[in-house]
Amino acid sequence: MTSIKKVLCGAAVAGLVAGTGSAVQAQVGLSAVTADWMLAAENVLLLGTDGTNLDKILEYAYNDDSGFKMLMDRGITAATSMIGHMTMSTPSWSTILTGVWDDKHGVVSNIYRPEPYTTWPSVFNLIEYNKPEIETTVISGRGLFTEIASTGGYPADNIIGISGGSTSAEMDELVAQETISRILATTTNPDISNFMFAYQSQVDHAGHSYGGGSDEYMQAVINVGANLKQILEAVAQAEAITGDRWTIILTTDHGHQQNPDLPGFSLGHGFQSPNETSSFVMFSLAGNEAQAGAQNLAYRTVDITPTILQAFGIPMRPDFDGTPMQLDPRLLDSTVFPDDLKQALQDAINSFGYPNIGTEIMLGLRALAGGAGYMLQSYVLNPMLNYLQTLVDQDIFLVSGLAEGAQWVLRTVGEPVVHVVAELGRAVGYLTGAGVIAPIDGPLPAPGAAEYTGGLDALLADNTFVAPELGDADLPALLDVDALVG
Ligand SMILES: [Zn+2]
Repeated sequence: MTSIKKVLCGAAVAGLVAGTGSAVQAQVGLSAVTADWMLAAENVLLLGTDGTNLDKILEYAYNDDSGFKMLMDRGITAATSMIGHMTMSTPSWSTILTGVWDDKHGVVSNIYRPEPYTTWPSVFNLIEYNKPEIETTVISGRGLFTEIASTGGYPADNIIGISGGSTSAEMDELVAQETISRILATTTNPDISNFMFAYQSQVDHAGHSYGGGSDEYMQAVINVGANLKQILEAVAQAEAITGDRWTIILTTDHGHQQNPDLPGFSLGHGFQSPNETSSFVMFSLAGNEAQAGAQNLAYRTVDITPTILQAFGIPMRPDFDGTPMQLDPRLLDSTVFPDDLKQALQDAINSFGYPNIGTEIMLGLRALAGGAGYMLQSYVLNPMLNYLQTLVDQDIFLVSGLAEGAQWVLRTVGEPVVHVVAELGRAVGYLTGAGVIAPIDGPLPAPGAAEYTGGLDALLADNTFVAPELGDADLPALLDVDALVG
């Protein structure tokens, strides 16, 4: 399969040279673009840190102790705004992992449903369907990511749900250690390509509990920076051993409200204030050292899945909202080298505003309706069930039995209520424009089915296409019509 893979990658390089030649010429330092680094981009690490404001990274973690700055020094950084899109966790991560916005995937709640990811396949499915030989891994203490990676006919190879740790900081540390050991383990199989996704949760938790302007939020940003530093050092170690370069992308799903007058008071996120729509993309493309430390304000979180697929030479879906950051001329043209990256990024963040009032009201309504089912489940139903469980566990005469009965009633009544509220939330989401655009491509065919819905590109890229083994037979003899009919 190696030769076919190289042909496909070579075609991508040819496309880059032919289609975007002028843009490449205009780029400072892009003369280093060669077919070699396109072929070498076989390990891609996607890192996610939940609810992390870039201005807080710049304030607390723009120093040599932090992996945030290490990655900014190694790659290209974008301050980006999700203005006009939901700033809730699952909707936003769904955009990052599918390459389409919420008006297509339709996710408006943090309650997991598989259907959006079979209609709009995740990056895990798209890689496993097109190139199953790539080793795909997700490492997360949050069920959302292990669930997305398990969904569809082409799940990730390694779905590592991390449990343990009494705080989200401890959980993140465990995720980081597992990520490091898996990065180092790739060096024993240097010919196998890897895609890994690892997730850090504590910044979002600190934001919800204490607010985006709190000391706890600051400490969480510093902690994640320290974890990222260890992960990036492991990547450097793996690179030194194998000689391969890794492509690394780091992003967040949304920001957090910051209230300077009331630092401890926050509604978290979900609405359209600039601090909530604030996001960022840090992008270090394998072999692109020439643009280290640059800024690109055109990258968006929706570009991440197309960029990952491009790195592996996998064809784009026709209805992606994002484009590959290493290929799109508009994105390539937007890379600049500011004298002071920190100040340039802060200036960009300061320029973010609010959407028009209609969009703001519509998305606020969608957030409230979409979030209601999850709030009911997380803050009312589950705490009540947990409290009743403590009574059941204590084995108190009469009381424990009554608690058990009350749990039954709550489950019987409460769970359908949560379901109805969540469905109503989806209906409101639909009425406000979420999930209203149907896909062009059909769902990925079931594994083993000989049906192609992805057009000629998908057919050519699919690994079920194998060049015939000709052995010692010489081609002219095979093409001899007389020999065939005779
Ligand atoms: Zn989130």
